[in-house]
Amino acid sequence: MKAAVVRDFTAPLTIEDRTLPEPGPHQVRVRIEACGLCHTDIHAARGDWPVKPTPPFVPGHEGVGIVEAAGHEVRHVRVGDRVAVPWLADACGRCDYCVTGWETLCLQQHNSGYSVDGGYAEQALAHGDYVVPVPHGVDPLDAAPLTCAGVTTYKAVKVSGARPGSRVLVSGIGGLGHLALQYARIAGAETVAVDVTDEKLALARELGADHVIDARTQDVAAETQKLGGADAAISLAVSSASFQAAYGALRRGGTLVLVALPAGGKLELPVFETVLNGTKVVGSIVGTRQDLAEVFRLHQLGRTRVIRESRRLEEVNACIEEVLAGKVSARLVFDLR
Ligand code: NAD
Ligand code: ZN
Ligand code: ZN
Repeated sequence: MKAAVVRDFTAPLTIEDRTLPEPGPHQVRVRIEACGLCHTDIHAARGDWPVKPTPPFVPGHEGVGIVEAAGHEVRHVRVGDRVAVPWLADACGRCDYCVTGWETLCLQQHNSGYSVDGGYAEQALAHGDYVVPVPHGVDPLDAAPLTCAGVTTYKAVKVSGARPGSRVLVSGIGGLGHLALQYARIAGAETVAVDVTDEKLALARELGADHVIDARTQDVAAETQKLGGADAAISLAVSSASFQAAYGALRRGGTLVLVALPAGGKLELPVFETVLNGTKVVGSIVGTRQDLAEVFRLHQLGRTRVIRESRRLEEVNACIEEVLAGKVSARLVFDLR
């Protein structure tokens, strides 16, 4: 089977022919139909973060496909089902985090496309209990971006405390941000969208953003303060400077939700203002299997729109350059059918 492999953090990915993996007792083998290119895959391929994957590895944590083989202990999915293989490849299932709805914080977890091989391949192994069924009527090319960009921003909007009448700033209208904007609107919030390309700002308007700020030419904090400040700001841009701007956009009692993970990302907080303003700063990492099921359900109900373009897996290196150059409409998805 064909796979795109990271062999070295400083070299392009290589397309290789690998032997078909056999599932263990608790695993399924998924024939991948589609896998999105998340900016995290670029961080993985370049070894951007303090905890690095070990080459050679296959990136991809937005894999969607059909279960082709299942181990004898697999119960909740069957051969023929369409499933998503998300970032949370598996967790221990027993620790306090796992049993209280915070499995994404489990210390024993594995991650697809990072610590275990992911979806940039014709076939992928996954844990039968951690794949999430994709409901009928949801296009696999839509399901793929929902599997990370969707679930991550759905969770971030929940964590932000967005509610009807609140004002939520979304910084970065890329793969994650274009969905964050939609979930904030579903939550009933007034939305402020921030980006640095004309295409993304136009997309934000098209998706119904109430206010649009161009961070190249406008002061994000000052413009948002003119509106009364943001109750929550969700940081999705791969830029430390954008975190600072999002912090400055908050009103008193506001919440900054950190999601983007730029290499060496730093945020300096002024203690005095943070205390006096009662500001909250919170990190948010992907979402649970339940969050993803809710994301799929919302999409099935027609409440969300996934903006994406299809590509061939062989184009992976050119696709990475496209994302880094900001030339992508929102998400690139490898179509492996
Ligand atoms: P992306 O490249 O698709 O989107 C980034 C967007 O930010 C682009 O639209 C870009 O134009 C915009 N941008 C760049 N500089 C900006 C600035 N100064 N102000 C405002 N906007 C700016 O990336 P993505 O796939 O959406 O991922 C975003 C980040 O989130 C990555 O760092 C990724 O690793 C991270 N991520 C985190 C989680 C998590 O669970 N915390 C999950 C998935 C991805
Ligand atoms: Zn991702
Ligand atoms: Zn656990």
